[in-house]
Amino acid sequence: MSQDAPIVIIGTGLSGYSLAREIRKQDKEAPVLMITADDGHSYSKPMLSTGFTKGKNADELAQADAAGMVEQLNIEVRTHTTITGLDPAGHCVMIGDERLAYSKLVLAWGADVIRIPLEGEGQEHVYSINDLMDYRAFRQALDGQSRVAIMGAGLIGCEFANDLRNGGYEVDVIAPSDTAMPGLVPPAAGDAVVEALTEEGVAFHLETVVDRIDRQDKGVRLTLANGETVDADRVISAVGLRPRVDLAQAAGLQVNRGIVVDRALQTSAEDIYALGDCAEVDGHVLLYVLPLMASSRALAKTLLGTPTEVAYGVMPVMVKTPCCPTAVCPPPAGAEGKWHIERDGRNVRALFKDAAGTLLGFAVTGDYAMEKQGLSKEVPPIH
Ligand SMILES: Cc1cc2nc3c(=O)[nH]c(=O)nc-3n(C[C@H](O)[C@H](O)[C@H](O)COP(=O)(O)OP(=O)(O)OC[C@H]3O[C@@H](n4cnc5c(N)ncnc54)[C@H](O)[C@@H]3O)c2cc1C
Repeated sequence: MSQDAPIVIIGTGLSGYSLAREIRKQDKEAPVLMITADDGHSYSKPMLSTGFTKGKNADELAQADAAGMVEQLNIEVRTHTTITGLDPAGHCVMIGDERLAYSKLVLAWGADVIRIPLEGEGQEHVYSINDLMDYRAFRQALDGQSRVAIMGAGLIGCEFANDLRNGGYEVDVIAPSDTAMPGLVPPAAGDAVVEALTEEGVAFHLETVVDRIDRQDKGVRLTLANGETVDADRVISAVGLRPRVDLAQAAGLQVNRGIVVDRALQTSAEDIYALGDCAEVDGHVLLYVLPLMASSRALAKTLLGTPTEVAYGVMPVMVKTPCCPTAVCPPPAGAEGKWHIERDGRNVRALFKDAAGTLLGFAVTGDYAMEKQGLSKEVPPIH
Protein backbone atom coordinates (compact mmCIF):
# COMPACT_ATOMS: atom_id res chain seq x y z
CA MET A 1 0.00 0.00 0.00
CA SER A 2 1.14 3.52 -0.71
CA GLN A 3 0.39 6.16 1.91
CA ASP A 4 1.02 8.69 -0.89
CA ALA A 5 -1.94 7.32 -2.81
CA PRO A 6 -5.08 9.45 -2.64
CA ILE A 7 -8.28 8.88 -0.75
CA VAL A 8 -10.35 7.28 -3.51
CA ILE A 9 -14.12 7.78 -3.49
CA ILE A 10 -16.19 5.69 -5.88
CA GLY A 11 -19.33 7.55 -6.88
CA THR A 12 -20.22 11.20 -7.36
CA GLY A 13 -23.78 11.11 -6.06
CA LEU A 14 -24.85 13.00 -2.97
CA SER A 15 -22.80 10.65 -0.79
CA GLY A 16 -19.55 11.03 -2.72
CA TYR A 17 -19.72 14.79 -3.14
CA SER A 18 -20.98 15.39 0.43
CA LEU A 19 -18.02 13.44 1.72
CA ALA A 20 -15.58 15.38 -0.49
CA ARG A 21 -17.08 18.65 0.77
CA GLU A 22 -16.75 17.54 4.40
CA ILE A 23 -13.14 16.52 3.81
CA ARG A 24 -12.37 19.94 2.31
CA LYS A 25 -13.92 21.76 5.28
CA GLN A 26 -11.20 20.23 7.39
CA ASP A 27 -8.30 19.76 5.02
CA LYS A 28 -7.80 21.87 1.91
CA GLU A 29 -5.02 19.73 0.44
CA ALA A 30 -5.44 16.00 1.20
CA PRO A 31 -5.42 14.28 -2.23
CA VAL A 32 -8.89 13.08 -3.15
CA LEU A 33 -9.67 11.18 -6.34
CA MET A 34 -13.30 10.57 -7.24
CA ILE A 35 -14.25 7.94 -9.81
CA THR A 36 -17.68 7.71 -11.33
CA ALA A 37 -19.41 5.65 -13.97
CA ASP A 38 -21.58 8.65 -14.88
CA ASP A 39 -20.78 12.17 -16.10
CA GLY A 40 -19.98 13.49 -12.62
CA HIS A 41 -22.63 16.21 -12.54
CA SER A 42 -23.48 17.34 -9.04
CA TYR A 43 -27.23 17.38 -8.47
CA SER A 44 -29.75 16.76 -5.75
CA LYS A 45 -31.40 13.46 -6.59
CA PRO A 46 -34.64 14.20 -4.67
CA MET A 47 -35.25 17.02 -7.14
CA LEU A 48 -35.66 14.52 -10.00
CA SER A 49 -39.27 13.95 -8.97
CA THR A 50 -40.03 17.68 -8.93
CA GLY A 51 -38.88 18.65 -12.45
CA PHE A 52 -42.33 19.41 -13.88
CA THR A 53 -43.65 21.06 -10.73
CA LYS A 54 -40.63 23.35 -10.61
CA GLY A 55 -40.40 23.71 -14.39
CA LYS A 56 -36.83 22.41 -14.58
CA ASN A 57 -35.34 19.97 -17.08
CA ALA A 58 -32.29 17.76 -16.44
CA ASP A 59 -29.77 20.51 -17.25
CA GLU A 60 -31.52 22.96 -14.98
CA LEU A 61 -31.56 20.43 -12.12
CA ALA A 62 -27.76 19.99 -12.34
CA GLN A 63 -25.86 22.23 -9.94
CA ALA A 64 -22.38 21.83 -11.43
CA ASP A 65 -20.57 19.62 -13.91
CA ALA A 66 -17.51 17.53 -13.04
CA ALA A 67 -15.09 20.32 -14.07
CA GLY A 68 -16.96 22.72 -11.79
CA MET A 69 -16.66 20.30 -8.88
CA VAL A 70 -12.93 19.79 -9.53
CA GLU A 71 -12.45 23.53 -9.22
CA GLN A 72 -14.82 24.00 -6.29
CA LEU A 73 -13.35 21.22 -4.17
CA ASN A 74 -9.75 20.95 -5.37
CA ILE A 75 -10.21 17.27 -6.15
CA GLU A 76 -9.61 15.01 -9.13
CA VAL A 77 -12.64 13.43 -10.84
CA ARG A 78 -12.56 10.63 -13.40
CA THR A 79 -15.90 10.45 -15.17
CA HIS A 80 -17.41 7.66 -17.30
CA THR A 81 -15.08 5.25 -15.50
CA THR A 82 -16.52 2.06 -14.07
CA ILE A 83 -14.78 0.21 -11.26
CA THR A 84 -14.74 -3.46 -12.15
CA GLY A 85 -13.12 -4.97 -9.07
CA LEU A 86 -11.52 -4.39 -5.68
CA ASP A 87 -8.27 -5.79 -4.35
CA PRO A 88 -8.35 -5.09 -0.61
CA ALA A 89 -5.05 -6.90 0.08
CA GLY A 90 -3.25 -4.91 -2.63
CA HIS A 91 -4.99 -1.63 -1.69
CA CYS A 92 -6.08 -1.20 -5.33
CA VAL A 93 -9.24 -0.83 -7.33
CA MET A 94 -9.55 -2.25 -10.82
CA ILE A 95 -10.77 -0.40 -13.87
CA GLY A 96 -10.62 -3.19 -16.42
CA ASP A 97 -6.90 -3.98 -16.67
CA GLU A 98 -5.83 -0.82 -14.87
CA ARG A 99 -4.95 -1.05 -11.17
CA LEU A 100 -5.25 2.11 -9.16
CA ALA A 101 -3.85 2.46 -5.64
CA TYR A 102 -5.67 4.06 -2.72
CA SER A 103 -4.64 4.98 0.79
CA LYS A 104 -8.26 4.83 1.94
CA LEU A 105 -11.15 3.70 -0.25
CA VAL A 106 -14.76 4.85 0.09
CA LEU A 107 -17.57 3.00 -1.65
CA ALA A 108 -20.35 5.50 -2.38
CA TRP A 109 -21.68 3.72 -5.42
CA GLY A 110 -25.37 3.74 -4.57
CA ALA A 111 -28.13 1.26 -5.30
CA ASP A 112 -29.38 -0.48 -8.42
CA VAL A 113 -32.96 -0.24 -9.56
CA ILE A 114 -34.84 -3.49 -9.33
CA ARG A 115 -36.07 -4.60 -12.74
CA ILE A 116 -38.94 -7.01 -12.96
CA PRO A 117 -38.86 -9.39 -15.89
CA LEU A 118 -41.88 -8.77 -18.10
CA GLU A 119 -43.31 -10.39 -21.17
CA GLY A 120 -43.80 -8.43 -24.40
CA GLU A 121 -41.83 -6.28 -26.79
CA GLY A 122 -42.59 -2.89 -25.33
CA GLN A 123 -39.62 -2.86 -22.91
CA GLU A 124 -37.79 -0.12 -24.85
CA HIS A 125 -40.39 2.34 -23.55
CA VAL A 126 -39.82 1.41 -19.90
CA TYR A 127 -37.63 3.83 -17.90
CA SER A 128 -36.16 3.64 -14.40
CA ILE A 129 -35.11 6.98 -13.00
CA ASN A 130 -32.32 6.75 -10.46
CA ASP A 131 -29.90 9.42 -11.63
CA LEU A 132 -29.69 12.59 -13.65
CA MET A 133 -28.70 10.74 -16.83
CA ASP A 134 -31.76 8.49 -16.51
CA TYR A 135 -33.86 11.58 -15.98
CA ARG A 136 -32.43 13.30 -19.04
CA ALA A 137 -33.19 10.23 -21.18
CA PHE A 138 -36.73 10.01 -19.80
CA ARG A 139 -37.47 13.69 -20.42
CA GLN A 140 -36.22 13.33 -24.00
CA ALA A 141 -38.37 10.24 -24.53
CA LEU A 142 -41.38 12.11 -23.17
CA ASP A 143 -41.06 14.89 -25.70
CA GLY A 144 -44.33 15.12 -27.64
CA GLN A 145 -45.98 12.38 -25.55
CA SER A 146 -48.91 12.67 -23.16
CA ARG A 147 -49.53 9.42 -21.25
CA VAL A 148 -47.28 7.82 -18.62
CA ALA A 149 -47.88 4.58 -16.75
CA ILE A 150 -45.99 4.11 -13.49
CA MET A 151 -45.28 0.66 -12.08
CA GLY A 152 -45.06 0.99 -8.29
CA ALA A 153 -46.90 3.09 -5.71
CA GLY A 154 -44.01 3.62 -3.32
CA LEU A 155 -42.56 7.00 -2.43
CA ILE A 156 -40.91 7.44 -5.83
CA GLY A 157 -43.92 6.22 -7.84
CA CYS A 158 -46.26 8.59 -5.97
CA GLU A 159 -43.89 11.54 -6.32
CA PHE A 160 -43.52 11.02 -10.07
CA ALA A 161 -47.31 10.60 -10.39
CA ASN A 162 -47.91 13.98 -8.74
CA ASP A 163 -45.12 15.67 -10.66
CA LEU A 164 -46.23 14.34 -14.05
CA ARG A 165 -49.83 15.42 -13.36
CA ASN A 166 -48.48 18.87 -12.54
CA GLY A 167 -46.80 18.73 -15.93
CA GLY A 168 -50.15 17.97 -17.59
CA TYR A 169 -49.56 14.28 -18.37
CA GLU A 170 -52.17 11.54 -18.08
CA VAL A 171 -50.92 9.19 -15.38
CA ASP A 172 -51.80 5.59 -14.47
CA VAL A 173 -50.24 3.91 -11.44
CA ILE A 174 -50.18 0.12 -11.18
CA ALA A 175 -49.13 -1.61 -7.94
CA PRO A 176 -49.71 -4.89 -6.11
CA SER A 177 -50.46 -3.19 -2.77
CA ASP A 178 -53.94 -2.00 -1.80
CA THR A 179 -52.70 1.50 -1.03
CA ALA A 180 -49.73 3.80 -1.54
CA MET A 181 -46.32 3.47 0.16
CA PRO A 182 -47.25 0.35 2.13
CA GLY A 183 -43.75 -0.23 3.47
CA LEU A 184 -43.36 3.33 4.65
CA VAL A 185 -46.64 4.63 6.08
CA PRO A 186 -49.70 3.02 7.73
CA PRO A 187 -52.68 2.36 5.38
CA ALA A 188 -54.68 5.44 6.47
CA ALA A 189 -51.87 7.74 5.35
CA GLY A 190 -51.37 5.78 2.12
CA ASP A 191 -55.11 6.00 1.41
CA ALA A 192 -55.04 9.78 1.92
CA VAL A 193 -52.29 10.08 -0.69
CA VAL A 194 -54.15 7.79 -3.12
CA GLU A 195 -57.35 9.82 -2.70
CA ALA A 196 -55.57 13.13 -3.20
CA LEU A 197 -53.71 11.91 -6.29
CA THR A 198 -56.94 10.42 -7.65
CA GLU A 199 -58.61 13.81 -7.28
CA GLU A 200 -55.69 15.26 -9.22
CA GLY A 201 -56.58 12.86 -12.04
CA VAL A 202 -54.17 9.97 -11.44
CA ALA A 203 -55.77 6.58 -12.25
CA PHE A 204 -54.74 3.90 -9.74
CA HIS A 205 -54.83 0.18 -10.54
CA LEU A 206 -54.07 -1.42 -7.17
CA GLU A 207 -53.84 -5.04 -6.04
CA THR A 208 -52.61 -6.09 -9.46
CA VAL A 209 -49.38 -6.17 -11.43
CA VAL A 210 -48.26 -5.67 -15.01
CA ASP A 211 -48.06 -9.01 -16.79
CA ARG A 212 -46.88 -7.83 -20.19
CA ILE A 213 -45.99 -4.74 -22.15
CA ASP A 214 -46.63 -4.81 -25.88
CA ARG A 215 -45.95 -2.19 -28.53
CA GLN A 216 -49.03 -0.27 -29.55
CA ASP A 217 -48.91 2.54 -32.13
CA LYS A 218 -46.15 4.91 -30.90
CA GLY A 219 -46.44 3.70 -27.30
CA VAL A 220 -47.33 0.56 -25.39
CA ARG A 221 -50.25 -1.45 -24.07
CA LEU A 222 -49.83 -2.85 -20.55
CA THR A 223 -51.80 -5.97 -19.74
CA LEU A 224 -52.45 -6.33 -16.03
CA ALA A 225 -52.87 -9.55 -14.07
CA ASN A 226 -56.50 -8.61 -13.34
CA GLY A 227 -57.25 -8.56 -17.08
CA GLU A 228 -57.36 -4.76 -17.45
CA THR A 229 -55.29 -3.01 -20.10
CA VAL A 230 -53.65 0.39 -19.84
CA ASP A 231 -52.38 2.31 -22.87
CA ALA A 232 -49.44 4.65 -22.38
CA ASP A 233 -46.71 6.37 -24.36
CA ARG A 234 -43.95 5.79 -21.82
CA VAL A 235 -43.62 3.68 -18.66
CA ILE A 236 -41.72 4.39 -15.45
CA SER A 237 -40.64 1.39 -13.42
CA ALA A 238 -40.42 2.43 -9.77
CA VAL A 239 -40.52 -0.91 -8.03
CA GLY A 240 -37.58 -0.46 -5.68
CA LEU A 241 -33.85 -0.22 -5.21
CA ARG A 242 -31.22 -2.69 -4.05
CA PRO A 243 -27.87 -1.56 -2.58
CA ARG A 244 -24.96 -2.37 -4.93
CA VAL A 245 -23.05 -5.14 -3.17
CA ASP A 246 -21.74 -7.41 -5.95
CA LEU A 247 -18.19 -6.05 -6.37
CA ALA A 248 -17.76 -5.80 -2.61
CA GLN A 249 -18.97 -9.35 -2.13
CA ALA A 250 -16.69 -10.65 -4.88
CA ALA A 251 -13.75 -9.01 -3.09
CA GLY A 252 -14.63 -10.82 0.13
CA LEU A 253 -16.17 -7.89 2.01
CA GLN A 254 -19.02 -8.73 4.34
CA VAL A 255 -22.38 -7.91 2.77
CA ASN A 256 -25.93 -8.44 3.87
CA ARG A 257 -28.77 -6.26 2.50
CA GLY A 258 -26.08 -3.63 1.89
CA ILE A 259 -22.30 -3.50 2.31
CA VAL A 260 -21.91 -4.13 6.02
CA VAL A 261 -20.21 -1.30 7.89
CA ASP A 262 -19.92 -0.38 11.54
CA ARG A 263 -20.80 3.00 13.05
CA ALA A 264 -17.45 4.33 11.82
CA LEU A 265 -18.58 3.38 8.28
CA GLN A 266 -15.74 0.84 8.09
CA THR A 267 -16.31 -2.33 6.07
CA SER A 268 -14.90 -5.70 7.06
CA ALA A 269 -11.74 -4.80 5.06
CA GLU A 270 -9.02 -2.52 6.33
CA ASP A 271 -9.07 1.03 4.92
CA ILE A 272 -12.32 0.45 3.00
CA TYR A 273 -15.43 2.39 4.01
CA ALA A 274 -18.95 2.70 2.60
CA LEU A 275 -21.81 5.17 2.94
CA GLY A 276 -25.07 6.16 1.31
CA ASP A 277 -27.42 3.90 -0.60
CA CYS A 278 -24.91 1.03 -0.87
CA ALA A 279 -24.19 0.76 2.85
CA GLU A 280 -25.79 -1.14 5.71
CA VAL A 281 -24.75 0.88 8.72
CA ASP A 282 -24.92 -1.11 11.96
CA GLY A 283 -27.94 -2.98 10.56
CA HIS A 284 -29.68 0.06 9.01
CA VAL A 285 -30.26 0.37 5.26
CA LEU A 286 -31.53 3.92 4.90
CA LEU A 287 -31.86 5.06 1.30
CA TYR A 288 -32.36 8.74 2.17
CA VAL A 289 -30.39 11.95 2.20
CA LEU A 290 -30.22 12.81 5.91
CA PRO A 291 -28.46 9.55 6.88
CA LEU A 292 -25.83 10.00 4.18
CA MET A 293 -25.18 13.59 5.25
CA ALA A 294 -24.63 12.49 8.86
CA SER A 295 -22.42 9.66 7.60
CA SER A 296 -20.29 11.94 5.44
CA ARG A 297 -19.62 14.33 8.34
CA ALA A 298 -18.42 11.48 10.55
CA LEU A 299 -16.46 9.70 7.83
CA ALA A 300 -14.52 12.81 6.81
CA LYS A 301 -13.18 13.06 10.35
CA THR A 302 -12.27 9.38 10.42
CA LEU A 303 -10.46 9.57 7.08
CA LEU A 304 -8.47 12.57 8.28
CA GLY A 305 -7.29 10.78 11.41
CA THR A 306 -9.96 11.29 14.08
CA PRO A 307 -12.00 8.07 14.32
CA THR A 308 -15.65 9.16 14.58
CA GLU A 309 -18.86 7.17 14.73
CA VAL A 310 -21.97 8.38 12.93
CA ALA A 311 -24.79 9.54 15.20
CA TYR A 312 -28.17 9.61 13.51
CA GLY A 313 -30.67 12.09 14.79
CA VAL A 314 -34.36 11.89 14.06
CA MET A 315 -34.61 11.77 10.29
CA PRO A 316 -38.12 12.44 8.98
CA VAL A 317 -38.73 11.94 5.26
CA MET A 318 -40.92 14.37 3.33
CA VAL A 319 -42.87 12.75 0.52
CA LYS A 320 -43.01 15.25 -2.33
CA THR A 321 -46.69 14.87 -3.18
CA PRO A 322 -47.80 18.51 -3.04
CA CYS A 323 -51.46 17.53 -3.47
CA CYS A 324 -51.16 15.75 -0.12
CA PRO A 325 -47.98 16.77 1.72
CA THR A 326 -46.73 13.84 3.78
CA ALA A 327 -44.04 13.52 6.43
CA VAL A 328 -42.98 10.21 7.86
CA CYS A 329 -40.62 8.99 10.50
CA PRO A 330 -40.98 5.21 10.51
CA PRO A 331 -40.73 3.43 13.87
CA PRO A 332 -37.55 1.36 14.27
CA ALA A 333 -37.76 -2.08 12.64
CA GLY A 334 -39.28 -4.54 15.08
CA ALA A 335 -40.46 -1.83 17.51
CA GLU A 336 -43.27 -2.96 19.82
CA GLY A 337 -46.32 -0.75 19.78
CA LYS A 338 -49.24 0.25 17.60
CA TRP A 339 -50.48 3.01 15.35
CA HIS A 340 -52.99 5.51 16.78
CA ILE A 341 -54.76 7.14 13.88
CA GLU A 342 -56.88 10.27 13.52
CA ARG A 343 -58.26 11.05 10.10
CA ASP A 344 -60.16 13.96 8.68
CA GLY A 345 -60.34 13.47 4.90
CA ARG A 346 -56.83 13.68 3.53
CA ASN A 347 -55.48 14.98 6.84
CA VAL A 348 -54.10 12.00 8.73
CA ARG A 349 -52.22 11.99 12.00
CA ALA A 350 -50.78 8.51 12.62
CA LEU A 351 -48.68 8.12 15.76
CA PHE A 352 -46.83 4.92 16.58
CA LYS A 353 -46.57 4.52 20.34
CA ASP A 354 -45.33 1.81 22.67
CA ALA A 355 -47.34 0.46 25.61
CA ALA A 356 -46.04 3.26 27.86
CA GLY A 357 -47.30 5.86 25.37
CA THR A 358 -43.85 6.87 24.11
CA LEU A 359 -43.92 8.13 20.53
CA LEU A 360 -41.64 5.94 18.37
CA GLY A 361 -42.65 7.06 14.89
CA PHE A 362 -45.25 9.00 12.94
CA ALA A 363 -46.83 9.65 9.57
CA VAL A 364 -48.73 12.88 9.02
CA THR A 365 -50.49 13.98 5.84
CA GLY A 366 -52.32 17.01 4.51
CA ASP A 367 -52.71 19.83 7.04
CA TYR A 368 -51.16 17.67 9.76
CA ALA A 369 -47.89 17.41 7.82
CA MET A 370 -47.00 20.75 9.39
CA GLU A 371 -46.70 18.97 12.74
CA LYS A 372 -43.55 17.21 11.51
CA GLN A 373 -41.12 19.41 13.38
CA GLY A 374 -42.86 19.20 16.74
CA LEU A 375 -43.29 15.43 16.46
CA SER A 376 -39.66 14.96 15.42
CA LYS A 377 -38.59 16.48 18.73
CA GLU A 378 -40.53 13.78 20.62
CA VAL A 379 -39.27 10.75 18.70
CA PRO A 380 -36.06 9.13 20.00
CA PRO A 381 -33.16 9.15 17.48
CA ILE A 382 -32.32 6.01 15.53
CA HIS A 383 -29.95 3.73 17.43
C1 LIG B 1 -36.68 10.25 -7.62
C2 LIG B 1 -36.06 10.17 -6.26
C3 LIG B 1 -36.52 11.02 -5.26
C4 LIG B 1 -35.94 10.95 -3.99
N1 LIG B 1 -36.41 11.79 -3.01
C5 LIG B 1 -35.85 11.75 -1.79
C6 LIG B 1 -36.28 12.65 -0.76
O1 LIG B 1 -37.20 13.45 -0.97
N2 LIG B 1 -35.66 12.60 0.44
C7 LIG B 1 -34.64 11.74 0.70
O2 LIG B 1 -34.10 11.73 1.81
N3 LIG B 1 -34.21 10.85 -0.24
C8 LIG B 1 -34.78 10.85 -1.48
N4 LIG B 1 -34.34 9.98 -2.44
C9 LIG B 1 -33.20 9.09 -2.12
C10 LIG B 1 -31.85 9.85 -2.20
O3 LIG B 1 -31.85 10.68 -3.32
C11 LIG B 1 -30.70 8.84 -2.26
O4 LIG B 1 -30.69 8.16 -1.02
C12 LIG B 1 -29.32 9.47 -2.47
O5 LIG B 1 -29.33 10.40 -3.51
C13 LIG B 1 -28.28 8.37 -2.73
O6 LIG B 1 -27.03 8.94 -3.02
P1 LIG B 1 -25.73 8.04 -3.23
O7 LIG B 1 -24.63 9.02 -3.51
O8 LIG B 1 -25.56 7.10 -2.10
O9 LIG B 1 -26.02 7.15 -4.53
P2 LIG B 1 -26.15 7.58 -6.06
O10 LIG B 1 -26.73 8.93 -6.21
O11 LIG B 1 -26.86 6.45 -6.73
O12 LIG B 1 -24.67 7.66 -6.60
C14 LIG B 1 -23.93 6.52 -6.94
C15 LIG B 1 -22.71 6.94 -7.73
O13 LIG B 1 -21.87 5.80 -7.90
C16 LIG B 1 -21.48 5.68 -9.26
N5 LIG B 1 -21.19 4.25 -9.53
C17 LIG B 1 -22.00 3.18 -9.36
N6 LIG B 1 -21.36 2.05 -9.65
C18 LIG B 1 -20.09 2.41 -10.02
C19 LIG B 1 -18.94 1.70 -10.44
N7 LIG B 1 -18.91 0.36 -10.50
N8 LIG B 1 -17.84 2.40 -10.78
C20 LIG B 1 -17.82 3.76 -10.68
N9 LIG B 1 -18.88 4.48 -10.27
C21 LIG B 1 -20.00 3.81 -9.95
C22 LIG B 1 -22.66 6.25 -10.02
O14 LIG B 1 -22.28 6.62 -11.33
C23 LIG B 1 -22.99 7.46 -9.11
O15 LIG B 1 -22.12 8.53 -9.38
C24 LIG B 1 -34.90 10.00 -3.73
C25 LIG B 1 -34.47 9.15 -4.73
C26 LIG B 1 -35.03 9.22 -6.00
C27 LIG B 1 -34.56 8.29 -7.08
